[in-house]
Amino acid sequence: DELRPCRAENAVAGALQVLGEQIRLDDIHIEIHVAPDLPKILCRQNQLEQVLINLLQNARDAVLDASAARGDSVPGRIGIDVTSPEPAAGESRKVFIEVSDNAGGISSDIMERVFQPFFTTKPPGKGTGLGLSVSFGIVRNHAGRLSVRNGAEGAVFVIELPAQDDEA
Ligand code: ADP
Ligand code: MG
Repeated sequence: DELRPCRAENAVAGALQVLGEQIRLDDIHIEIHVAPDLPKILCRQNQLEQVLINLLQNARDAVLDASAARGDSVPGRIGIDVTSPEPAAGESRKVFIEVSDNAGGISSDIMERVFQPFFTTKPPGKGTGLGLSVSFGIVRNHAGRLSVRNGAEGAVFVIELPAQDDEA
């Protein structure tokens, strides 16, 4: 798996090839927005796909968990947003891939720990607690950053990667 110029939206498509069908069978709505004219990024596409698979898997688990806990039928939703806003003066261009859900977010007492190896809130056999720590390492190896915040409806994971210089 070579480091080469690739398109973030292709990695999204690759991850959805693995998990999309399952997520739709779970009746979770996937909303994808890809901004036009995105710059390429330098990436190992299999690794970036693996990160997206981990984030989507977590979002799916969280959405299914939340609706089971509520016992209601609020439709599950997972959002994928790929953007590359105009950088501020002096800053380099970046590509952002956001994976969000409507499962209620992450409580503040565990927010700090979710990227730690083996940290999991899932029952034995359902989670290893390795997905986010492995993902964090992969994104860092791409000179990028993986972060999380709580949005209005749930967790928002953000993969930030440097755009590739097409001139180079
Ligand atoms: P695992 O999925 O095996 O538990 P991860 O490293 O992928 O391990 O995730 C660690 C923990 O982070 C999860 O157990 C869960 O508590 C929390 N988490 C991850 N993604 C979400 C999400 N989208 N919503 C709520 N909690 C999440
Ligand atoms: Mg996981």
